[in-house]
Parts: sequence; structure tokens; C-alpha cells
Amino acid sequence: MPPVRKRFAQHFLIDKAVVEQIIRAINPRENERIVEIGPGKGALTLPLLAGVGRLDVVEIDRDLSAHLIEKCKNAGQLNLLQQDALQLDFAKFASPRIKVIGNLPYNISTPLIFHLLQFNHINQMIFMLQKEVADRICAKADTSDYGRLSIMVQAQCITEKLFEIKPAAFYPPPKVDSALLRLTATSKSTDRIKNYRQFSELVRIAFCSRRKQVSNGLKTLTDANQLEELNIPPSARPAELSVTDYINLANALKPRPP
Ligand code: SAM
Repeated sequence: MPPVRKRFAQHFLIDKAVVEQIIRAINPRENERIVEIGPGKGALTLPLLAGVGRLDVVEIDRDLSAHLIEKCKNAGQLNLLQQDALQLDFAKFASPRIKVIGNLPYNISTPLIFHLLQFNHINQMIFMLQKEVADRICAKADTSDYGRLSIMVQAQCITEKLFEIKPAAFYPPPKVDSALLRLTATSKSTDRIKNYRQFSELVRIAFCSRRKQVSNGLKTLTDANQLEELNIPPSARPAELSVTDYINLANALKPRPP
């Protein structure tokens, strides 16, 4: 059996009831294009293969990859990419719509979600994450969890925290609670963002100074008059602006050179 590698944040699902709950949430349908990130020893991979017949998986650990190919050889058509999911061009999964799922390595879950948000053909993501990260992604405006991550994800997806999972469901158990999160892409909101780079930069700058009034924190980009025209109180703090406020403001800014 391959060794457990801490640097790849390996916590393998061992609770069969939790695996079933996750598979029900993923709801695999025959011939659906599903990509699994971090299949590990195949806790989710085998039941998924049984549901869809063909599966693409991305695993960074060479020993686990070899083990998984052997384990799945009679279970269906497994296409294993042995590489870092953060570096992977998901456009290579040439299908009009794909679902990306996984019990994610918690150390890279946030950069991975930012990476995946760039690909328009990903219509759903179902991820096991650290509970706190799931809470931040789903947070409503004017709460302490609400920030850059909530806005960037909610600008493109409907976010749903489906259920929480205790450390005992994994081996070795993580030090944190986990949650299953469903992100469903809403093409409407991406259409509303005229310049994604500018939107992303605006949100980043706003949350560099979370306590400042927006007219001050964003003074290099906008002014009180423009904020008022958009019905955004200049004295508001960054966490008091809704996702729509950020989209409207980004769309109203003068285009800046790249
Ligand atoms: N899916 C398995 C399960 O639920 O039992 C394993 C989940 S474990 C939390 C995370 C998995 O992601 C491990 O198999 C690990 O080797 C893999 N992994 C870690 N970093 C990765 C990366 N950058 N790209 C792809 N896979 C990665």
C-alpha cells in the first residue's frame, strides 16, 4: 500500500455511509463527463465509475496513481492524469459541460477553486473542503466570513453547503471539520461582468483594507461621486457591498491597461 504523504494533504475517506452520501450528492449519470481531483485510493472513484462508466481523474502522487490504475482495471474506463491539478488546463476536457468533483487536498483548495473558475465549461463543482473554507465561500454580505473568496465564487456560482463531516470519516483524521459544497455555474452573472480581470482586481484591492471606507480604500480606482451614482454609500466598508455592487462598480470603472 502506498505511504500516506502529508505534503499532498492526504486524508482518505473510510466511512462508507459518508461515501454514499457524497455519491448521492454528485448524482453521476451515464455518459456524463466527470473529472475527479485527487482520487487517492479510489473511495469515490470506484462508485463513480460504476455510475458513469468512464471517468477522468487527476492525481499528483505517482505511487497512488499506479495503485489506482490497478484497482480500477476491471471497473470501467479510467483516464488518469498524473499531475498537479493547479497546473492543468481543464479546457482539454473537450465537452460542452463538465462536472468537477473531489475530496480536495485542503492545502490547495482555495487556489484550486480560483483556477477552476476560469473555465466556462465547468457547470458544476462538488467538493469536500475544510468547513471554514465552505463557510467563507457561502457567506452573505456584512458577515465576518464574507470576503474576496465569497464574492469571486458567488459572482459565478450558486453556492450550497450540503452537509458537514467529522474528522473520524477519514484516515488519517484531519484536525478540522469538513463540509461538502456544491457550486453551480450561473452563466447569467458571468455575462454581467464586462472585464473579469478588472472585477477581480477591484475585489482584491477592496479587501486589502477591510476596515477602511470604500471611498478611501478604493480611491485609486473610483471616487465618492461614482459610488453614489451606483447607490453605494462611500462610507460603507468593503464587506457591506453585495456581489452585485462589486459587479456594477467594476463595469463602471474606466478600462485600465493590463
Ligand atoms: N479522494 C480520496 C478520498 O476521498 O479518499 C483522497 C482525498 S485526499 C484528501 C486528497 C488527494 O489529492 C490525495 O490523493 C492527494 O495525493 C491528491 N492531491 C494532492 N495535491 C494534489 C494536486 N496538486 N493535484 C492533484 N492531486 C493532488
